[in-house]
Amino acid sequence: MTTTSAPLLPLSEVSERLREAVTSIVAPEQLSAMPDAELLALLRVAEELGRAVDGLRVLASGEVGERSRATLGPERLSARSGCHSPAELIERIGCVSGQVARSRLRLAERLRPGYSLTGELLPGAFPAVREAVTSGTLGIEAAAAIIEPLAPVLDRGSILASLTGADGIRSAERELVDAAAAGEPADGVRIMAQTWALFLDPDGPLRDDDRGRRERGLTLGRPRHGTVPIRGVLMPEVAAQLQRLLDAYLNPRVDEQGPHFVPDAPDDAPPVHDDLEQRTPAQRRHDALAGILSVAASSDGAPRLGGGAPTLVVTVTPDQLDDPSGIAFLQGGAQDAAAVSASVARHIGCAGAVQRLVLDGEGRIIELGTVQRIFNAHQRRAIMVRDGECVIPGCHVPAPWCEIHHVVPHARGGPTHTDNGVPLCWHHHRTIDTGGWQIEMRAGLPWVRPPGWIDPHRTWQPGGSATMRAWLTLRLDDEAGPRPGRR
Ligand SMILES: [Zn+2]
Repeated sequence: MTTTSAPLLPLSEVSERLREAVTSIVAPEQLSAMPDAELLALLRVAEELGRAVDGLRVLASGEVGERSRATLGPERLSARSGCHSPAELIERIGCVSGQVARSRLRLAERLRPGYSLTGELLPGAFPAVREAVTSGTLGIEAAAAIIEPLAPVLDRGSILASLTGADGIRSAERELVDAAAAGEPADGVRIMAQTWALFLDPDGPLRDDDRGRRERGLTLGRPRHGTVPIRGVLMPEVAAQLQRLLDAYLNPRVDEQGPHFVPDAPDDAPPVHDDLEQRTPAQRRHDALAGILSVAASSDGAPRLGGGAPTLVVTVTPDQLDDPSGIAFLQGGAQDAAAVSASVARHIGCAGAVQRLVLDGEGRIIELGTVQRIFNAHQRRAIMVRDGECVIPGCHVPAPWCEIHHVVPHARGGPTHTDNGVPLCWHHHRTIDTGGWQIEMRAGLPWVRPPGWIDPHRTWQPGGSATMRAWLTLRLDDEAGPRPGRR
């Protein structure tokens, strides 16, 4: 290791002076009066300063990572600072997100110079990028845009390196750093780097595919505290297909371009607070998956299980079924029966791929979810056409992806008839007793009443697709007859 002399000024003073210099460049109130050219020059300066600071951030983070390497055991810097990883330490000191801390560490790792066996300093994997980052010419984003596509090529062994690799990568690196320094935005630099990677290692995608096939997997964990963890690695085309389905389910009216693997918002982002949505993005994806599974399980083409449709059996006793805090059991096949709230049994009693089994105290079957209580294919189709989508206003999950809900429960004499069935998405079906929405059938059409927090007047309105609602409202106004909502 090289020894370094102490900085000329104490760090606190350096920081103070630099901050003063930066904040005195312009007063916020001067900005609006600034001529265009000057404003753009100011922005350029701000970015240059940012890149210089970025370089310092990456170098310092890298050193923190180096001193926190696992082989140092309890002596590692992160452990001595009370953190379980270098990323957490950087997160705490820098007040940044875990994602930013980890990306700095990854970048620093790639930029770190190496040492030969004789202790000689060797250039790191990307010397030109390192130099440009430390001198403030290259920002973190552009550096990552160069390194991420090229690093796998470099990692792919000596055969390649001995052919074209080492030289090829050096040329690529040089050209990309120059392009970025000449003003190519980071996105453009990334595309150029990807092109270089494909040129230097044309078998890369094939090898990735091989690796993907080996590493792919999906595992359901054991139920714990009301949830079951799911873990897995998907092949890109499977992930893309799933993403398309989730998009279609969650936002059927917007056709987004192609797959996007990075969720628009982090999983724990607060729910979007329009009037109707209270779920986080991750919760919405969960509910979409529930809808997808239910469509798949009840489809005619679904693989058979024990000679029948892959039916999920929910077992419950009559007293528990009526008890708000009652318990039911899920028997999903291979897994042991899992205890769930009896509300699950109340709601899924009428869904196609689920069968409700009611046992008396001795375990004798006293009710089996039978054909009579399940809407048949003709009824489902008719209801779907009539209502178009989940009948809760603002929820646009298309009817074919919905469960058909008995408005008057079957147990209370509600018939399995189109006049008593409405499409509800998985989420609204599960929360229909607790969410505050009320549904009523009037002359064979669904009417819906929002909870008080959405509409303080709790006005009844036609449920189903907006087109149908608009048409109905018009027709009813036209007739000026007794409007169902005003009876
Ligand atoms: Zn819904």
